[in-house]
Parts: sequence; structure tokens; C-alpha cells
Amino acid sequence: MTVQVPEIKINENVNLNSKESAIIVVDMQNDFCDPKGSLYVPESRKTIEPIMKLLEKARDKNVKIFYTQDTHQKDDKEFEIWPVHVVEGTWGWEIIPELKPKEGDIIIRKLRYDGFYGTSLDHYLKIYKINNVVIVGTVANICVLHTAGSAALRWYNVIVPIDGISALNEFDYYSALRQIEFLYRGILTKVEYINFN
Ligand code: ZN
Repeated sequence: MTVQVPEIKINENVNLNSKESAIIVVDMQNDFCDPKGSLYVPESRKTIEPIMKLLEKARDKNVKIFYTQDTHQKDDKEFEIWPVHVVEGTWGWEIIPELKPKEGDIIIRKLRYDGFYGTSLDHYLKIYKINNVVIVGTVANICVLHTAGSAALRWYNVIVPIDGISALNEFDYYSALRQIEFLYRGILTKVEYINFN
């Protein structure tokens, strides 16, 4: 069986108010992004540079930066579904060195796919009066999609640069783009097309 990917629009001019926008870097941790990690997503390596560029642009304009950090205990129920990964305190749990958070960035530890579920993310976004969230990270159809969906359900504008997310295979990647654009009305773009003003 073959399926065709419906047309996806890449917006080439995305101007965002820096005060009303935030970046959410999803789960760029060693277990997902390092070849030695326990749930390695090879494509994630290609997104590191674009994410670095996005963060550079954001820091230039004092855009608030959030990181989600998937966090499990040794006996987490999620290990009934997935191999053991990102156990709190281990090397695999740490955010990759290339994207190490800086002072003032906010790290949100999460227990499940959705960065909002059971976390303080929404509370922080409200405090900072954020309307737009630019979401990057991995895995596109899992934690990125659930976080993007959860943001959209709360009526945040969702912007996803397609060169900043990664999945385990093409189907997963494109199905995530489809859901973000069609279902959650997110704006798909590339890092180079995003401007903060
Ligand atoms: Zn997990």
C-alpha cells in the first residue's frame, strides 16, 4: 500500500512579536539524540543546527525559551511501551550539550508525551503573556505532536519549522506535519523564515 502526502504549505514569511512568543524545544536529550542513546532518532542530528540557529535568533530578541525534558523513574509505566529511556539523573536524560539551556531558560520536566500534561508549562506561558509557541524537537509524531496539539487546544498559535523536528521514519514525520497543519491549524515553516520583531 502506498499513500500520498496531502499538500503541505511551507510559510516563507513568519513574523512574530518577540514579547508574545516563546520557543519550546521538545526532548532534545541524549537518549533520543545521541547515537549511544537508548531510543535514538538518527534524523534528530540534522535538526541540531537549525534549532541552534532558531535559539540564536530568539536570544537576540529576548524571546522566552522553554525546554521539555522527558523524565522517568526506573519503574516508569511507560517502559511497558518503550525501552527504558531518560531515567532521571542519568546521562541519557540530559539535554544534549549542543543545546544546553542557558540562564533564564525554563526547563519543564514531563512524564508523558504532552509537554502540558501535569506540568507548569501553561502556567508559565500565561505569566509571560505568550500567544505564539514555536515548537521544535523530537519525536515529531509523539512528543512534538502532542505538545503542539495541546498548545493548539489551549488556543496558542503553533508554529513549527519543519527542519527543527525529526521522526523515526518518513511516514511518522509527514503524518505529524499533516496533523499539525490540518487539525491544529499550525503554521509550518523553516527556521530561516522566522523573524522575531
Ligand atoms: Zn518517555
